[in-house]
Amino acid sequence: MSSKQLGQFLNENLEDLKVKGLYNVIDPLQSANGPLIQINGRELVNLSSNNYLGLATDDRLKKAAIEAVNTYGVGAGAVRTINGTLEIHLELEEKLAQFKKTEAAIAYQSGFNCNMAAISAVMDKNDAILSDELNHASIIDGCRLSRATIIRFNHSDMVDLRTKAKEARDSGKYNKIMVITDGVFSMDGDIAKLPEIVEIAEEFDLITYVDDAHGSGVLGDGAGTVKHFGLSDKIDFQIGTLSKAIGVVGGYVAGKRDLIDWLKVRSRPFLFSTSLTPADVAASIKAIEILSESTELNQRLWENANYLKAGLEKLGFDIGDSETPITPCIIGDEVQTQKFSSRLNEEGVYAKSIVFPTVPRGTGRVRNMPSAAHTKEMLDRALAVYEKVGKEMGIIQ
Ligand code: PMP
Repeated sequence: MSSKQLGQFLNENLEDLKVKGLYNVIDPLQSANGPLIQINGRELVNLSSNNYLGLATDDRLKKAAIEAVNTYGVGAGAVRTINGTLEIHLELEEKLAQFKKTEAAIAYQSGFNCNMAAISAVMDKNDAILSDELNHASIIDGCRLSRATIIRFNHSDMVDLRTKAKEARDSGKYNKIMVITDGVFSMDGDIAKLPEIVEIAEEFDLITYVDDAHGSGVLGDGAGTVKHFGLSDKIDFQIGTLSKAIGVVGGYVAGKRDLIDWLKVRSRPFLFSTSLTPADVAASIKAIEILSESTELNQRLWENANYLKAGLEKLGFDIGDSETPITPCIIGDEVQTQKFSSRLNEEGVYAKSIVFPTVPRGTGRVRNMPSAAHTKEMLDRALAVYEKVGKEMGIIQ
């Protein structure tokens, strides 16, 4: 393809996405990503951030980050295995292991890159991976990178998983077989059926891998989905992110010491990409200390989530079957969904539309992410706007 053909290809495809209402518009924030945000000079109630516990703007984390910058500077200066491991990186990993009740943990620069790192460090072309069809994009990419055979099972369908696990094991074709699932599915807020997954894994000798990006800080008094089900000793890989409830940036794997030692010598982002900055590390340590000491923020998150859900349901919106604070408001049609989200925005509520290809066609939704930092007054403001726009567009009566 020549440069001219590339230009034409991009132009036509971008136009096509815009016509179909599938083009992402990015609105830069003029403020911190707190419960209220400033965009284009206007203040909006923010219902789109993953900052579940409000820690992204917490003074205690800011102070820890500033102190770390003063001590260590702004950058770690090298990859972990050269001389980019500061003592605080090790402290963070110890804290993460304690938090997740595992022998050890390893930190990465993001949750996305953690999945790319961990799956491909352990699985290869002689292996198979059973992957929930709704798993996050970073899991899908990590699976592809490993070159293992990918066997998708229907979303949270334990009959399908069992059938496919049995087929894979009976075929005798694979060396290792792994089952991978999100702990909490980020588009619908449903929780993976981990007790059944563990049973199937035991029956067919599968490696277990749970990406708990949206469960950590939220379920199990904050320790996550695995703790929620009391399965800490049954899951080989517990993946988490430092970018959502923890409020900073980064990702991690918690598990047995041998696994973590292996990842430290074999996972490519650990070996070849500069480590987390001192500020990220110090702020994350502080966040984990806060979560380990008290469940207050976690309780406030749930109170707010239940309040918002009850309010939206009472107004007559379809909020799906979420079991977590993630609160979809399902509209259906893509163009209608985007229009609904823009009208909410004009009226002072930032709740982003999520449409195909992130979710299946015809299931467009505005996704609400309440946090511990919202006040009842902010949530009431948002509900009043939902009522106004919902009635105006004929979505509710
Ligand atoms: N896994 C899951 C399940 C996620 O939802 C996300 C974030 N969208 C990630 C991984 C990536 O995490 P991060 O933003 O830290 O890269």
